Amino acid sequence: MVTITNHMPTAELQALDAAHHMHPFSANTELGREGVRVITRAKGVWLTDSEGEEILDGMAGLWCVNIGYGREELAEVAARQMRELPYYNTFFKTTHVPVIALAQKLAELAPGDLNHVFFSSGGSDANDTNIRLVRTYWQNKGQPDRNVIISRKNAYHGSSVGSSSLGGMAGMHAQGGIIPNIHHINQPNWWAEGGDMTPAEFGLARARELEEAILELGQDRVAAFIAEPVQGAGGVIVAPDTYWPEIQRICDKFGILLIADEVICGFGRTGNWFGSQTLGIRPHIMTVAKGMSSGYVPIGASIICDEVAEVIGMEEFNHGYTYSGHPVAAAVALENLRILEEEKIIDHVRDVAAPYLKQKWESLLVHPLVGEAKIVGMMGSIALTPDKGTRAKFAAEAGTVGYICRERCFKNNVIMRHVGDRMIISPPLVITPAEIDEMFVRIHKSLDEAHAEIL
Ligand code: PLP
Repeated sequence: MVTITNHMPTAELQALDAAHHMHPFSANTELGREGVRVITRAKGVWLTDSEGEEILDGMAGLWCVNIGYGREELAEVAARQMRELPYYNTFFKTTHVPVIALAQKLAELAPGDLNHVFFSSGGSDANDTNIRLVRTYWQNKGQPDRNVIISRKNAYHGSSVGSSSLGGMAGMHAQGGIIPNIHHINQPNWWAEGGDMTPAEFGLARARELEEAILELGQDRVAAFIAEPVQGAGGVIVAPDTYWPEIQRICDKFGILLIADEVICGFGRTGNWFGSQTLGIRPHIMTVAKGMSSGYVPIGASIICDEVAEVIGMEEFNHGYTYSGHPVAAAVALENLRILEEEKIIDHVRDVAAPYLKQKWESLLVHPLVGEAKIVGMMGSIALTPDKGTRAKFAAEAGTVGYICRERCFKNNVIMRHVGDRMIISPPLVITPAEIDEMFVRIHKSLDEAHAEIL
């Protein structure tokens, strides 16, 4: 048997990876031919690969490493917890200290009366929990037909069959279909779909699609509306200012449950603990994951308001995961929250990192390829276009130029993602102004090279 280590030649690691490892969201045969980059270590905002290259992680992994890489405290806590109580469940009249402490902390941090926490292993299964929660809520209230959940096209709520049905990713629906009683309305993406409307008009129009959908489906059939405060994987789509107040008004008017999927926006990403606070949303349920543990261990949760928790609690809730409230994950998440709080990382976002990043981000608008620059806190997107004035699309198939740009970034050792022809960033929250400067040297170089390549 081969012992596989960090010290093996890159080509050998790549060959073994191609032989046995299927990568998510990848065409694996093609990927195997090209060879993937082997990441061996990370510290702060920096990744190191097997060739010794230092890469600035502009995406915080998958939008999750909020406190940055390499925090020893989390490793210590994990080791201690593994020695003390590596596993126990909370199904049958038992609990443990890490899960009690984490649930209490989340209830303290979450806005309003979001005081009750149901744990999962990540965002997808937390959203699956939410499907069952909102349907059970209406069932327990004697309205079992109220089981339709409204979501948005181009939303991302996870990869399980339930959560990907909630999501509005056509490519995912094409592979495996979607579950019944999920309805998708259009997204508030003014750049791509706003036509001749002003952003303000468009925001209102897109929010009112929720009201139209409720009336069309029947008010007594709609259980909930789910949305990300800022659409992340859909391309960091920041809704016009008119959008969220109107959505909130409509949810209130029809008494439907509002689920804010905070998997990306939570834990400081938007400059507050939660995106709902930044955007003035009052959810009944929040989905959280990623930044809750800064990605060091898998953990997610649904944070639920008093009234919904009370109605759910009326009957046995037939739902739970083996790793719901896993003690090691809970202890690590708690330590991550301690670091976020005690090191005032969200203040750093609000006062230092986000204002500086915004200034640099918006300065990209002078680049000939960049038509729109949007940013909320530490998540931003730019729209690439051949003509800023008309918001034109490239003649090449959608995503071609974005892909070229992303590949240039990768080569220049800065991680950015592309979603179609939008480029997105979401760096660790601890990034310093000097590191932001370095990131922009690399982004500018990559944009220039992409521009030269497509001319
Ligand atoms: N919800 C949102 C908004 C996400 O961005 C993601 C992942 O990117 C998920 C849910 C799914 O989370 P996970 O990958 O932890 O299952």
